[in-house]
Amino acid sequence: MRAARLTAPGMLELVDIPVPTAGPGEVLLAVGAVGACHSDLHILDAPAGGFPIPTTLGHEIAGRVEKLGPGVTGWAPGEPAAVYGIIGCGHCRACLRGLENQCRTVPVGGVGLSRDGGLADYVVVPASRLLKIGDLEVTQAAPLTDAGLTPYHAIELTRPALRPGTCCVVIGIGGLGHMAVQILAATTAVTIIAVDTSDEALALATRTGAHHTVRADQNAVDEIRRLVGPRPGGADVVLDFVGVDPTLEISRSVISAGGHLMLVGLGGGTLTMQPGAGVVPVPLEVSVRIPFWGTRAELKEVIALAQRGLIQAEVQTFPLTDVVEAYDKLRRGEIHGRAVLVP
Ligand code: NAD
Ligand code: ZN
Ligand code: ZN
Repeated sequence: MRAARLTAPGMLELVDIPVPTAGPGEVLLAVGAVGACHSDLHILDAPAGGFPIPTTLGHEIAGRVEKLGPGVTGWAPGEPAAVYGIIGCGHCRACLRGLENQCRTVPVGGVGLSRDGGLADYVVVPASRLLKIGDLEVTQAAPLTDAGLTPYHAIELTRPALRPGTCCVVIGIGGLGHMAVQILAATTAVTIIAVDTSDEALALATRTGAHHTVRADQNAVDEIRRLVGPRPGGADVVLDFVGVDPTLEISRSVISAGGHLMLVGLGGGTLTMQPGAGVVPVPLEVSVRIPFWGTRAELKEVIALAQRGLIQAEVQTFPLTDVVEAYDKLRRGEIHGRAVLVP
C-alpha cells in the first residue's frame, strides 16, 4: 500500500509498504480521508530523535472498517468510523477519569505520531479508538478528530467564563481556528474577535461566525482593546492557535483580570508574565493553560455538533499522491480551512 512516511528528519515521502495486520483488539481501517495538521510540520521540523523514524504521519483520520482483529466486537466490515488518535495507558488516574490526553504513563503521542498513522491506504488502530460517524462524509469527519476536537476541548475548559456577551479572542484562523470560531458560535453567545495575519483567514472567520476581525500587526492590541472596551476590561478568553512570540504578546496584552489564556498553538514562542511588575502589569487572576487534543467523550460531542450541521470544516481535498504538495501549501499559508488527503 501507499504510505506518506517520515523517513528522515524533515523528509516526508510517499512510499510502498505492506498492508499492516490487525492484532487482537485492533481493526484494519481503509482510510477515507486524513486532515493535514500544522503539527505535522512541527514534526517534520523536529530534530532527529524527536519522533520515531520511519513513521506514517496523519493523525486526523476517518475511513471504513476493512477487517477486525481477533476478539473485536461491535464493528462490521464496511462501517464508517472516525479515529480518536490518543492511546493512553488506560490504567493511570488520568486515563481512568477519561483524560487520556493527560495520561501520565504513555509519552505524548498516538496514531500518526508515535505509531503509524493514516496518510496511507490502510491503518491499524485499537478498536477502542473508533467512533461511529453515521452519514457524515469522511472528508468532514476526519478534521473533526483534531481540528474540531482540540478547540472543543480548549473551549470546554473555559466554559464557565463564556457568558453571553463576554469576549473571546481567537488567534490563528487556520484548521483549528476556523473550527473554534464555529464551536463558539454554536455553543455560546460570546462576542468572537478573530485575529490572523492573512486576509483569506479573516474572511473565513467572518464566514464561520466571527463578529469582528483584526489583522495581526503592530496595531492589533489597540484594535482588540478598542473592541473589548478599555482596561480594566479585556478579553475573558483568548485562544491562541499560533503560539509564536507576536501572538503570545497579543494574548497577554488583551486578557482581562480573571481571564483564561489557552495556548493551543505549538509555535515555540515564549509567554512573558511578570506579576506585579512594570508598565504593563499582568491582570490578576489570569489562568494560563496548554491544552492537549481532547477526550473521547468530547470527540463524540464534536461529531454530534457536525451531525446537527452546527459546525462544518472548510475542506480543500488532495489525492494522497499530492501529499508533499499539500504540506508545502500548508507551510506557505496557502490552505484556508483544512487540507484533507484522500487515498
Ligand atoms: P494552520 O496552519 O491551519 O493555521 C494557522 C493559522 O495561523 C493560519 O491561518 C495563519 O495565517 C495564522 N498565523 C500564522 N502566524 C500568525 C501570526 N503571527 N499571527 C496571527 N495569525 C497567524 O494550523 P493548525 O493546523 O490550525 O494548527 C495550529 C497550531 O496548533 C499549530 O501550532 C499546531 O501544531 C497546534 N496544534 C496543537 C494541538 C494541541 O493539542 N495543543 C493540536 C493540534 C494542533
Ligand atoms: Zn494535529
Ligand atoms: Zn494513562
